[in-house]
Amino acid sequence: MFHLRGEISGSVEMPRWTAKVFGAISGRLSSCGARYLKFARSFTVNLTVRTDRLWLNTMEDAGYKRFKIEPKPAPHVYQIPNKFDVSARKLRLAAMLVHEAFEYKLNREVVLSRPCIYGVFGGRFGGFKPLKQKCVGCMRCVQEYPHIMTVKQSDSYKRLGDSFWTPENVYTVWNEASTGKIQVKGMGYKGAFAGEGFDGMWTDMSEIVRPTRDGVYGREYISTSVDIGRKPTSIDFSRIDDQPKSLEIPVPIIFDELPAGTYNDDTSDSVERAAEKLGTFYVSRQATSGQLSRKNLVPIIEEENIEDYLQKPPAIVEYDAERSNLFRKLASSFRASIIIARLPLAEDSPEVACKLAREGVHGLHLYADYHGQDYSKETMHVSAALKEVHQQLVREGLRDQVTIIASGGITLAEHVPKAILCGADLVGIDTTVLVALQAEFHGETRSRSDCQLRPRKIDPAWGGQRLVNLMGVWHDQLIEILSAMGMRDVRRLRGDIGRSMMDLELQEQSFKGIPWAT
Ligand code: SF4
Repeated sequence: MFHLRGEISGSVEMPRWTAKVFGAISGRLSSCGARYLKFARSFTVNLTVRTDRLWLNTMEDAGYKRFKIEPKPAPHVYQIPNKFDVSARKLRLAAMLVHEAFEYKLNREVVLSRPCIYGVFGGRFGGFKPLKQKCVGCMRCVQEYPHIMTVKQSDSYKRLGDSFWTPENVYTVWNEASTGKIQVKGMGYKGAFAGEGFDGMWTDMSEIVRPTRDGVYGREYISTSVDIGRKPTSIDFSRIDDQPKSLEIPVPIIFDELPAGTYNDDTSDSVERAAEKLGTFYVSRQATSGQLSRKNLVPIIEEENIEDYLQKPPAIVEYDAERSNLFRKLASSFRASIIIARLPLAEDSPEVACKLAREGVHGLHLYADYHGQDYSKETMHVSAALKEVHQQLVREGLRDQVTIIASGGITLAEHVPKAILCGADLVGIDTTVLVALQAEFHGETRSRSDCQLRPRKIDPAWGGQRLVNLMGVWHDQLIEILSAMGMRDVRRLRGDIGRSMMDLELQEQSFKGIPWAT
């Protein structure tokens, strides 16, 4: 038999409701031999419940903040070509209107109704002069009036970009930078199942139905932060103040140096503003324009200009490892900085990377050309070249000591997780910056010494916002991929090649030796 007696009394002040709960429990436990155990116990519990600002995320008060890039519209300042060319056969259209006028007894509402919900035929002359810039290519008008309407890709759209930058990719980057929203491309995918470079690689999205990791709006936080710098493998207490440095950035993307010949104050100011707002870095050989702080600058330092940076040492510095062996000199001049060796991806990159890691560099910036091809005699895509460097560093037990930044050919959001899967810690973007800022293509953009993209006159505030928007969209897409792969941290993705599939490898495994299949 038990007795439970209790009381709750409370008081409410604005910020909190407090209550004291007290009571007693007593009883008697009897056994079958009529022996019993008596007990009595009193208790008091204090309860405090916050009653103010319950709608706020109190985790933020405790220092927790969900990283989110807020977009703001930054519409195109230079007119972009229409993607679709909409045209109507005028005689047939006129005949249909006359027919409908008789059929529906001049009912204006029916005769003047337009089949396009996007307003393409909403101008004064309706279908006779369609507003082509509004067309999204849904093909409804063609399905309803196949004998009158034609919709095809416009010639000016087809001329966009170069042999690597497809019109579709240019358009995607423009619109991501302009709206800060992920492009929704309806009508299903009618393209090839696999392609070259990153298009020949698929990620394992087997966790796509897991509800708590549902991407951008998920309840679980997915971290996109990465570290730049060298990580200690053990602690040396005698040199505790001299440990390798590392820095955390909230997105695994930095802005690589602008292509040669495209540097100007407007473009570099835009990049600097965006890097500052996003908390990431930008690489440059040029001194800054002086308007903004240069705390996000990663200068590429040469022997002659070391002195320029001594007074205010940057957090990260890069040097051309191909041209000079400046590491020791930089390490003694910039004791608090992270020192990164910059080198082109080529057939000897795995060995060179291991040598530099043993020398003590804190990171490697490996770059391909702007079309994502390395500098080997038999060129490889940056994904394959990266894998070789990563795997060699793993074999030699050096991988965890250095950070790898990969750049060249990173032009779409999905290239970021794919490059990380191949072994990079983070990526750098280059020509993508110029495309987002509406630079003009004047030819092939492949060569790092002769890039044919020409920047246009822009307002740096507008340019900075375009780049922030682009990064916001890429960040959202990265989170979507991580959630579909069941990962809560982008650091876990690095080199996890088992979570990817390569088209070429699959073809070889499945069809090797079958003559009719290859
Ligand atoms: S294709 Fe779609 S958006 Fe374009 S004109 Fe036709 S109905 Fe309108």
